[in-house]
Amino acid sequence: MNFYSLIESIVKSKPTNIAIKSSAEQVILYRELDQHASRYALALDALGVCPGDRVIAQVDKSLPSLFLYLACLKAGYIFVPLNTAYKSKELTHFIADAEPKLFVTSCDRYDEVSELVMAANDCSAVILVGDPGRDLLGLAAGHSSSSVVRSVKSDDVAVIIYTSGTTGRSKGAMVTHHNLVSNVKVLTSLWHFSEHDTLLHALPVFHVHGLFVANHCVLSVGASMLWLERFDVDAIIDLIPEATVMMGVPTFYTRLLSNEKLTTELCRNVRLFISGSAPMLSETHELFEQRSGHRILERYGMSEAGMITSNPYDGERKVGTVGMPLPSVSVRIVDDFDISTAKGTTGHIQIKGPNVFLGYRNMPERTQDEFTDDAWFRTGDLGVLDADNYLTIVGRSKDLIITGGYNVYPKEIELILDDEPGVLESAVFGVKHPDFGEAVFAVVVPSTKAELDPEGLIEALKIKLASYKVPKIIRVVTQLPRNAMGKVQKSLLRDAHTGD
Ligand code: AMP
Repeated sequence: MNFYSLIESIVKSKPTNIAIKSSAEQVILYRELDQHASRYALALDALGVCPGDRVIAQVDKSLPSLFLYLACLKAGYIFVPLNTAYKSKELTHFIADAEPKLFVTSCDRYDEVSELVMAANDCSAVILVGDPGRDLLGLAAGHSSSSVVRSVKSDDVAVIIYTSGTTGRSKGAMVTHHNLVSNVKVLTSLWHFSEHDTLLHALPVFHVHGLFVANHCVLSVGASMLWLERFDVDAIIDLIPEATVMMGVPTFYTRLLSNEKLTTELCRNVRLFISGSAPMLSETHELFEQRSGHRILERYGMSEAGMITSNPYDGERKVGTVGMPLPSVSVRIVDDFDISTAKGTTGHIQIKGPNVFLGYRNMPERTQDEFTDDAWFRTGDLGVLDADNYLTIVGRSKDLIITGGYNVYPKEIELILDDEPGVLESAVFGVKHPDFGEAVFAVVVPSTKAELDPEGLIEALKIKLASYKVPKIIRVVTQLPRNAMGKVQKSLLRDAHTGD
């Protein structure tokens, strides 16, 4: 089943329901949403895109970016969203790996992207909006407002989400139409979504949280969304009275708490606040409940599996936990030998279910390594299940840093730092940060006689990396703490530099 069929059935049964209200006061009905998706799909067709081809989109969040996504689903093209923060060096890898037919970019990056795709086989670049007559928006306007939903097989890939890679190379997680359909059905039922809901959508749309969870929960039931192109505390405060649900990363909630207008009265129409993508401090949970009268529902998911667990809608929402496995999803905790551990014992989190992705693109061996012989997926997270089957995530076995909801793998930054003149070696790790959850922190050891300037290193990294990956602080040290096996002891570094 094509995921878009769920939206199509709403388009047919509730064509005049409001799908989107944008910050520019634009209102899009379901009927109109489908017309936009059709026009974009036909414009892509005319550009030579065929079912199964990859379409990379590295564009700011906007209504056209949503139409493009829906068009790809509808026409059976594989959508590949990329964070706008990625620079040329990073894009080269995505283009080589995804082998896209089309790279949709913004006006200001068109020349840079055109040059990159020139080196690729049979790929062209197109601007999404901002170049009247030549951009995708203009091309779409010349096409019919009706197109068919292409039928797909359940294992056909709908979206490739690039995750950060421990070796500095991102892996393309292939998510199928079946993954998307099964996950949204469970979530809308569990979280009681209906056509009467209005979701406040301020999340980015290059990541599972904003792209799948937020969009799909709304559009598959005929609900509405208040579409904000970025997180802006004042805009959110203005819109909260119109919303029934809000989804956010923990940083959203800490920022809302810093605004004195956040009150129970302001949140009177909201029935549900959801948080995920990174751990939420229990202090934030408690303060938010005092100020808004709402207990945030925390859930856990990842690019490779969509949503995995959730605190209950009606039952007890346990602070510090990410709730119970979703219906149809199995979660087990195992030791280093993939043997299930007793309840209450910390171990590796493994999962199984219709939400689990197909594998990493072009990485069959890596994919095989990430699954056990009996087909459980190794999430890379460490956790513990309590007697009531609530999961607590206690750490990330892969040393991932999550800053403001974005993932940063230390190894990628370390490799680049080590290449800088005068740097002998480095260690990158996360330290607690009141706003971002975690901040990227680095220590560097200079080569003999070299004098290192931490601020200069930060500037050098800014040119090579997306800004959220650049360390907030770099300290020069004489040596790295290592254990008997020669492994750098990051926990010692974290302790030593927390509060710096
Ligand atoms: P991503 O693939 O970018 O969605 O990142 C997935 C990772 O985010 C997971 O493997 C977890 O480590 C982390 N994560 C997601 N939700 C939560 C949560 N509620 N609490 C703690 N960590 C989370």
